Amino acid sequence: MALSALVYISQATCPIDRAMLQEIGHVAALRNASRRITGVLLYSNTYFIQALEGDPHKLMLLFDRIRRDKRHRDLQIIHAEEIERRLFASWHMGVLDLSHDPPLDLMQLIRRLASSPALAAEEDAGRQAIELLKTFRHLLPGRSAA
Ligand code: FAD
Repeated sequence: MALSALVYISQATCPIDRAMLQEIGHVAALRNASRRITGVLLYSNTYFIQALEGDPHKLMLLFDRIRRDKRHRDLQIIHAEEIERRLFASWHMGVLDLSHDPPLDLMQLIRRLASSPALAAEEDAGRQAIELLKTFRHLLPGRSAA
């Protein structure tokens, strides 16, 4: 079965507190489970970064729905590729709120990617983002995927 991964960044259009982030993650996990989509969603200081993995067609349908969500804007895909294995196989949506303990590396990377279309177009930018997301795996709560 074909598998794809997609990573995008976006900016929140409203204040995102922990409860709202948890609600987004809860709805996402429920819906993603039935579509066999896995991934991670990080939030810090008005920025989201989300990785989604799954069937390429289902992924594009989901991204289209997420793109229309008014709680964020300026969605920018920074990485999309076919994959052989899932990085976040244990999470239908792992959510991390990094706003209270901001790791500057994440913010610097996101700002750099967001403000530089040239850089975002480079393969390296996407790979950097993937490597960064991988480092957050051990912080993710529980495992929501079978
Ligand atoms: P509905 O629930 O009918 O909502 C329609 C619109 O109402 C939404 O687009 C949104 O603009 C708004 N809305 C919905 N709920 C709220 C709320 N509680 N507060 C304010 N406005 C609201 N969904 C997934 O299935 N999988 C994901 O991985 C996923 N990731 C997301 C990541 C981010 C950063 C955000 C902001 C949302 C994400 N969502 C995800 C939610 C997704 O955008 C849809 O809201 C959800 O899938 C329900 O789809 P729906 O068509 O039934 O929308």
